[in-house]
Amino acid sequence: MAYRQAKYDELLIFEMGCIEKQAACFSQECLDPTMIDKFIPKEIRKKDDINIPGLTEVEIARHYTRLSQMNWGVDSGFYPLGSCTMKYNPKFSEKMASLEGFALTHPMQPVDMVQGNLELIYELEKILSVIGGIEAVTLQPAAGAHGEFTGLLIARAFHEAKGEERDEVILPDTAHGTNPASGAMAGLKVIEIPSEGDGCVNIEALEAALSNRTCAFMLTNPNTLGIFERRVREIAEKVHAHGALLYYDGANLNAVMGKTTPGKMGFDIVHFNLHKTFGTPHGGGGPGAGPIGVTKELEKFLPVPRVLKLVKDDGSIKFDLHHKLPYTIGKIHGQLGNFLVLVKAYVYTLLVGGDGLEKVSEAAVMNSNYLKMKLEHLFPLPYPGLRKHEFVLNGSILKKKGASTLDAAKWLLDEGIHAPTIYFPQIFHEAIMIEPTETETIEEMNRFVEVMKAIAEADAEELRKCPQNTTRKRLDETFAAKNMIFTYRALRDWRERNAD
Ligand SMILES: *Cc1c(COP(=O)(O)O)cnc(C)c1O
Repeated sequence: MAYRQAKYDELLIFEMGCIEKQAACFSQECLDPTMIDKFIPKEIRKKDDINIPGLTEVEIARHYTRLSQMNWGVDSGFYPLGSCTMKYNPKFSEKMASLEGFALTHPMQPVDMVQGNLELIYELEKILSVIGGIEAVTLQPAAGAHGEFTGLLIARAFHEAKGEERDEVILPDTAHGTNPASGAMAGLKVIEIPSEGDGCVNIEALEAALSNRTCAFMLTNPNTLGIFERRVREIAEKVHAHGALLYYDGANLNAVMGKTTPGKMGFDIVHFNLHKTFGTPHGGGGPGAGPIGVTKELEKFLPVPRVLKLVKDDGSIKFDLHHKLPYTIGKIHGQLGNFLVLVKAYVYTLLVGGDGLEKVSEAAVMNSNYLKMKLEHLFPLPYPGLRKHEFVLNGSILKKKGASTLDAAKWLLDEGIHAPTIYFPQIFHEAIMIEPTETETIEEMNRFVEVMKAIAEADAEELRKCPQNTTRKRLDETFAAKNMIFTYRALRDWRERNAD
């Protein structure tokens, strides 16, 4: 397949149109200079020039269609971004979330008017507790990282309630970057321990780090190398023996659903990434959901409000919200979380079913091992053996011929394949982390293998020239990271500052 990404000289929406145009007009006739006064009356405007885009509906439709053609997503093609579980998002879930009864509810509606929504939240909490093998779940956190933060606040509250001062969190050097960040945000000192020769937790190093200052040990299982930590029960025992809690980074539950649960492994707190395992869109930084589950003993610390199911004397059922719980860590999100994302995840679990979730994990693990076996003779596999849902290859052979893993990633873009996660985990150089997910076809995986073969055989100069077929060529990533410009206003300010 010859791949060419669309390329338009597209203006920013703020630089297009004029304020007098209204979106619902389909011809030039609706141009009306007093329009703005009609929809935003003068009395409530702080200034005359409010600088919002003014476009007709057809202009808006074309603008966003063109942008989407210069973009990449799971609906465009293969997206083997390790640790991110970029799997297909079923359109049925989208359709259900757009039903009026869900889509048009206002978060402040009284409980009597939103009984169905509350029931859905209650049910999804129960489904996730079963999958996690854990007692109680809150759906409020808006992302995996937010779930980690919430979980660590709960761990802190648990120790404080016992009168213990514990200000350290321990994590392995393979931990996802959000783990140390969440630890720091929760006010904890972060202690990193090295991995064993097989890529798993070094138990001696863990023991040396554990003390009566340890609030929690955070672990991902399977870890970010895609390796299952077989000694997890022993780890749990050691952590608990020191009075600390064991936190499960369950962003990638794709590998173990229906086979085991974090609860069985001995974890006390777990987060779920609905936008990974449960097929809801990642949303490009938009609304997400990272629910957390906890054991019975931690339930009382969960954020409020909690959804309650009340059975009345006549047998009828009513759902209510409980706002005042003496030990709660408080609120961590407006209302009950990103509701429509929760609807999609709920629909996904029902669509796939309990046995289906187990099959999802089997297929995710099989696809991952299929690709691993096809690729490990091209790029060495650092730790031998089978993998779970993902695996990490070593791209050093590219370095030897004068190119790099980054160049290989750019080559893949030219072939209409999203790049894998690269340079992570950082326990060796030139890491290439691949996660095909269960929704990819064998034909597409075979095509990926062919492209990886071509990369292994390509000469350095060819590799360094990529990408050629994409909307943008090589970006100045350092500049982008140092100049975070996310709004039109920030862009205007930046342009003014750099005018001369
Ligand atoms: C994605 C991921 C996270 C963070 O989740 P976000 O929703 O991106 O904040 C944490 N840990 C692991 C292992 C992940 O893959």
